[in-house]
Amino acid sequence: MRYQSTRGGVSGLSFKEAVFMGLADDGGLLLPEKIPALAQSDIEALENLTYPELAFQIISRFAPDIPSSDLKDLIDRSYASFSHPEITPVVHRNGVYILELFHGPTLAFKDVALQFLGNLFEYLLRERGQKMNILGATSGDTGSAAIYGVRGKENINIFILHPQGKVSAVQERQMTTVPDSNVFNLAVQGTFDDAQAIVKDIFGDLELKRSLSLGAVNSINWARVLAQIVYYFYAWGRVRGETGCEKVCFSVPTGNFGDIFAGYMAKRMGLPVQKLILASNENNILTRFVNEGDYSLAGVVNTLSPSMDIQVASNFERYLFFLYGEDGRRVKDAMERFRKEGRLTFTSEELARVRADFLSHSAGREETLNTILDFHKDTGYVLDPHTAVGVRAGRELGGSEWPTICLATAHPAKFADAVREATGSDPERPSSLEGIEDRARRCETIPADIQAVRAYLEKHAC
Ligand SMILES: *Cc1c(COP(=O)(O)O)cnc(C)c1O
Repeated sequence: MRYQSTRGGVSGLSFKEAVFMGLADDGGLLLPEKIPALAQSDIEALENLTYPELAFQIISRFAPDIPSSDLKDLIDRSYASFSHPEITPVVHRNGVYILELFHGPTLAFKDVALQFLGNLFEYLLRERGQKMNILGATSGDTGSAAIYGVRGKENINIFILHPQGKVSAVQERQMTTVPDSNVFNLAVQGTFDDAQAIVKDIFGDLELKRSLSLGAVNSINWARVLAQIVYYFYAWGRVRGETGCEKVCFSVPTGNFGDIFAGYMAKRMGLPVQKLILASNENNILTRFVNEGDYSLAGVVNTLSPSMDIQVASNFERYLFFLYGEDGRRVKDAMERFRKEGRLTFTSEELARVRADFLSHSAGREETLNTILDFHKDTGYVLDPHTAVGVRAGRELGGSEWPTICLATAHPAKFADAVREATGSDPERPSSLEGIEDRARRCETIPADIQAVRAYLEKHAC
């Protein structure tokens, strides 16, 4: 199992090397050179495994350079932090299967990958005798999940920039009430784009990147996609156990194309998936791509599902690599064209191949609120606004032949304002949020200025 770049300039990497490289050195994203194909009998043998057993069966196929006993230990520790015994349970309400991915420490699906990535980084750094300073900007969920992934870990410090006063109260508290001394929160006096631009500029300074051993935790890291493949197999096993179905559909609330790309990997490995339903909010570039073959940039608008308020979906490049027949040159040319023109178009033959795997629906504000309200009235179950976008799209496109599994990407208490607007009452608060307002906060306010952030990093780097 070797890894290569989508742009053709890097190949032959081991899993460990791919995890450390993050973004490929040629600017592309890393992918396995060959995707392991599972026979139907192999897949059926996975049906009744526990989540950690299944995670080992999937991840070990992509990470042969980690000894089995070490990998098992990493996986066990990563999912011991989840509050549900099944890790990612599937619940059945009124014909809809909901894959609950929010039982991790920060109540959003990013924990599934970042709990694993934090432990993996710590393990690999110890082996190499190295240190790492993680730097990232967040508009909410990624920052808190990354902080919880590496809090208290050896040889890792983490610096997360968020726009001051512009993340939700729960998200701000989750990030800033972590007491571990390797966690540094910086409230930037500016917008998310300001914070993001500072992080990009710092990563662009290769000398600084090297001298501070800077590491990234965004979803360009292959290990994040890999950890997310597992729950597609898990959900399939649970639903098949209940219904005996041969195939399923998945509906996935999408922003960066990371989560749904993990589903596409599962399908390519042989999981019997009829369709992957790509659910977007008003920021619908990916829906226009699937439905019209038009991948063209528009401005980002603020919605009820802020973790999907993205236009340029970084993981889309991984999919393009397959759509373009694994031709790195073509991907490189296309990405350059996209950077210049803000647009890619596709032939009808390409579009037919896209639509063999994907369907897509974009749900606006009213549809999202109505879905939360109706689902609550009909079933008593409270959807968070991201999940509601997925449930809506699943209803629209899932059909009745196969069960549709909707990925629940956040706990409703994380986005209580939208839930209150839809249903008139607050969602129940899980115990991990009890008293979060009263805990001590650790956060530094900093101007939106690269020199100020750079000086802070140099002072506090490990
Ligand atoms: C990050 C996030 C998404 C989007 O996931 P992608 O991998 O970027 O497509 C959806 N819902 C929630 C709650 C998120 O935090």
